[in-house]
Amino acid sequence: MFAANSEAGVGGNVGRGQGAGQGRGSMGGAGRGAGGNCVCSKCGKRLPHQRGQPCYEMKCPNCGNTMLRET
Ligand SMILES: [Zn+2]
Repeated sequence: MFAANSEAGVGGNVGRGQGAGQGRGSMGGAGRGAGGNCVCSKCGKRLPHQRGQPCYEMKCPNCGNTMLRET
């Protein structure tokens, strides 16, 4: 005779606070962390952009030229 409706109370509070506020702001992410490459303007060598390091501070490993940001 007891605990007949106890299961109805379980699960009533599940599902709160999830699914809202996420899913926006990330478009075009193809798996690369920061996104974008640095490209050598001389020989065309591309390197993944290092986060926190501007491309123009990187040197091309092939020819030593300054890298540029490629978007
Ligand atoms: Zn180069």
